[in-house]
Amino acid sequence: MPVDERTLISTYFAGRSIGRKDVVLGIGDDAAVLRFEPGWDLVIATDTIAEGTHFPAAISARAVGHRCLAVNLSDLAAMAAEPLWCSLALSLPKPEALWLEEFAAGLFALAERFGVALIGGDTVRGPLSVTVTVHGRVRPGAGVTRAAARAGDGIWVTGTPGDAVAGRYLLGADAGVPAAVRDALCQRFLYPEPRVREGLALGSLATAMLDVSDGLHDDIAKLMAASGMGAELDAGLLPLSAELRAAVAERAIEYALTGGDDYELCFTVPEQATVRLQHMAAEWTVPVTRIGTVVREPGVRWTHQGRALAVPDTTFRHF
Ligand code: ADP
Ligand code: MG
Repeated sequence: MPVDERTLISTYFAGRSIGRKDVVLGIGDDAAVLRFEPGWDLVIATDTIAEGTHFPAAISARAVGHRCLAVNLSDLAAMAAEPLWCSLALSLPKPEALWLEEFAAGLFALAERFGVALIGGDTVRGPLSVTVTVHGRVRPGAGVTRAAARAGDGIWVTGTPGDAVAGRYLLGADAGVPAAVRDALCQRFLYPEPRVREGLALGSLATAMLDVSDGLHDDIAKLMAASGMGAELDAGLLPLSAELRAAVAERAIEYALTGGDDYELCFTVPEQATVRLQHMAAEWTVPVTRIGTVVREPGVRWTHQGRALAVPDTTFRHF
């Protein structure tokens, strides 16, 4: 059933968000009014996801609703920031009630889990594309940038990179992969889990951090370039999931290094803080794994079983 713009906003978005005391005025007026406590810095990130570019047309509206917020929360997590509010700019070819209901369900389920209020947005007709802006906070100086990795720091990653890109390839494909393996990998692509709590906790330990969206190798290269450092890594240490190995066998390393869409955190930690990190991470549901070391010589070098490993340049670039 098609819906008009006013009904769309009132039915699917206004009144569905969690309430927060710091939202003085939410959806419904010309702009939102937010009360910001002194003693914090504001942290803002925006990401657009467009059908065909960031997700295939076949994925469910619920997964789109989850993803548009998840990718933004992931950016805030990578700054060690606490998310507070978000806004939503929605471009829709044809507003359908069923699609909107599912989209809102995916969006609000995630927003509620992290206490994020939807404070406004915009709705236009056009190709399916969703832009979310998240606002969060850090204590002054407590945010973790990409720029401060130091020689000797360990390089760590959360989760099991490579799963999401394998899941993306397996969507709707049979490929002779057992159904349980395929479903688990597809789930990792469709419902990326932003590492919000982990990112916040890492604020006190990590020297540099980013979230892995373009592929681990490329993202480590960005982290090192921003820090003016290089990296030496061992592909044999990569945390490869049993599902990824089952699905792609000996190509698992290549998937983990060049596949995107992981939304895991990659960060550097001084050697002497390793025990504190392990202690902290023992409480997490996601594993953390050390995969390498920061060095002074620029560039990102991988070895595997003692031999140099060349990383194929297959990372997706928009332009
Ligand atoms: P205006 O024409 O003044 O921009 P709109 O009709 O676009 O007003 O928006 C009315 C209210 O609904 C505003 O508070 C706006 O932030 C909110 N809004 C519009 N679209 C969305 C959306 N997709 N999600 C959340 N809030 C929205
Ligand atoms: Mg508007």
